[in-house]
Amino acid sequence: MTTALETRSVTKTYGIGSGSIKAVDQVSIHVRSGEFVGLVGPSGAGKTTLLAMLAGLLVPTEGSIVIDGQEIGKMSEAQRSRFRREKIGFTFQANNLVPFLSALENVELMLRLNGKLDRAGRARAKELLVRLGLGGRLNNLPRQLSGGQQQRVAIARALIHSPALVLADEPTASLDTERAFQAVETFSDLVHEQKRAGIMVTHDLRMCQYADRVIQMQDGVVRRVIEDRQEINALAQAGKHELAPALVPAVEPRPNGRFRGQLPAMTPGTLASITPSTR
Ligand code: ADP
Ligand code: MG
Repeated sequence: MTTALETRSVTKTYGIGSGSIKAVDQVSIHVRSGEFVGLVGPSGAGKTTLLAMLAGLLVPTEGSIVIDGQEIGKMSEAQRSRFRREKIGFTFQANNLVPFLSALENVELMLRLNGKLDRAGRARAKELLVRLGLGGRLNNLPRQLSGGQQQRVAIARALIHSPALVLADEPTASLDTERAFQAVETFSDLVHEQKRAGIMVTHDLRMCQYADRVIQMQDGVVRRVIEDRQEINALAQAGKHELAPALVPAVEPRPNGRFRGQLPAMTPGTLASITPSTR
C-alpha cells in the first residue's frame, strides 16, 4: 500500500501571545491508500483543526502535509484550491448540501466542478447513491430528505470524484445508531474497495470497529495509535458501555409521561475518562 497522506510535525496555533492556543501540536501521522482511520478524542482535542489543515482549508503554523506525493504548503492558493477539488473529498457535521440541488445533482456537483461530468460520471453518481440506500431519493431536494439521508448524500459527494484522501468530521452525528453503523460500514467498504485513504473523526467509539487503525488525540497531540484488531474492538466495545447510559434514561417516567430529574448527558469528560493515556 502506498502512503497517501503524511504529516510531519504539523502544528496550529490560534491567536498570538499569551492568549494563543496550540490546537494541534507537532502531529506526525500517515495514512495509506485503502486504509480507513478513526480519529477520536475529547472535545477540544484538535481533531477538527487537524482535519481542516489536511483539507487545505487551514494553513499550519508549522510542519508539512504531503498528500498523494505533493506538499500542499508549497502550493499557491490557486493550486491548493484546485488540488483540494480534485484530490480531497470531505464531509463535515453540517453536511453543507446545496439546498436547491437534488441529491443526485449534489453528488454530480463535485464532477461538474472538475469538468468531469459525463455520462459515465452520472452513472457512477447514481450507482453510489443506490449503494448508500438512496436509489429512491435521487431527485429529492435536501429538505425533502431526513438528516440521515442528507448525511449519506454528503458521503457520496465526498467519494464521487475519486479523491486520494477522504475526510469526514463526525459524519454520523445526526444519525440514529443503526443508520450510523450502516453509513460508516459502507463508507469504510468504499474506502477499501476504491483504495482511498480515509480519516473519520468520531466521538462515537463504537464506529471504530470499521477502522483499520485508530488515532487518539488529546490536547492537540497524538496520545496513542491503535493498530491491533483486538484492541480496536475492545475500544469499540468500550464505546457501547460509554453510550448506553446516555441512551437509556436512568430515571422513572412519571405517570404523566414526563421524566423526573435530569437525563444523563454525554460530556467530553466521559470520553476522556475511558481513553487510556500513554503518558
Ligand atoms: P475538536 O474538533 O477535537 O473538538 P477543535 O480543533 O475544534 O477540537 O479545537 C481545538 C482547540 O482549538 C480548542 O481549544 C478550541 O477552542 C480551539 N479553537 C478551534 N478553532 C479555533 C479558532 N478558530 N480560533 C481560536 N481557537 C480555536
Ligand atoms: Mg470537532
